[in-house]
Amino acid sequence: MTRRALAALTASLALGATAACGEPASGFSDNGKLDVVTAFYPLEFLSSRIGGEAVAVAELTKPGAEPHDVELNPRQVGQVADAGLVVYLKGFQPAVDEAVAQEAAGKAFDAGSAVELLPAAEHEHEPGEEEHAESSGGKDPHVWLDPVRFATISDQLAVRLGQADPARAAEFTTRAQALHAELDKLNTEYAQALKTCQRREIVTSHAAFHYLADRYGLTEVGITGISPEAEPSPQRLAHVAEEAKATGTTTIFFETLVSPKVAETIAREVGARTAVLDPLEGLTEPGADYFSVMRSNLTALTTALGCSS
Ligand SMILES: [Zn+2]
Repeated sequence: MTRRALAALTASLALGATAACGEPASGFSDNGKLDVVTAFYPLEFLSSRIGGEAVAVAELTKPGAEPHDVELNPRQVGQVADAGLVVYLKGFQPAVDEAVAQEAAGKAFDAGSAVELLPAAEHEHEPGEEEHAESSGGKDPHVWLDPVRFATISDQLAVRLGQADPARAAEFTTRAQALHAELDKLNTEYAQALKTCQRREIVTSHAAFHYLADRYGLTEVGITGISPEAEPSPQRLAHVAEEAKATGTTTIFFETLVSPKVAETIAREVGARTAVLDPLEGLTEPGADYFSVMRSNLTALTTALGCSS
């Protein structure tokens, strides 16, 4: 039995510490840090920023991996079971949803419960296209790309962390307030930079930017639906190319974790160039973080849309 073996291993490893300073409380590591298990990068970012040195943060999606269809190994399911708090986004990663339901009921924070999620875009499921598990319930999960909604999630995560570790609640609140202010600043930068632009349509490889578009008055045309792995149909490609031509699109965006092939095909067809717009589903550049990628995205957007500041 894997869980029992794991527990035995953990117990034997912890023996020295246990003898010296007593059994660590459930959900806390031996050095007294709250064990926070996060589902994918933006939630890892929030948890690390709010938790600081007081928490030990693990991430279920490997850095550089595409999170939509993540699979969990038995060790990771054990991590979920042993966590003090699991931070995830229900409806985004079916394997994580299942592990939370089975192993972490009552000690999980669903980021999607903090804000009202937008419905998944309507072109998601064309006839014959495969149904994607992440869109069950018809909600779009990519909420972290809107700094305003992300700040609300951050505030509520701080409250939840404080419930899991009441002795440090004030510390979590302080850090969350600082992060909220940074997100407000980012929002202001976006709003100003995207205020006056020659175009407002963005063609992206997968429909991840609906929240960002919604916040700043842009229109997203996703080549595939909300799952990046879906193969767009020839009809969909023709439709996107037509739309790109009709709106004078100069740039077709692709992203870092998925092949740019489809975006390049459309760009050739339309006579546009390609550029990266990163949906922040995982980091690909060393030293990058949520804010640096969001600011690179803003530069890419203002260039592509011909915005004047
Ligand atoms: Zn996505």
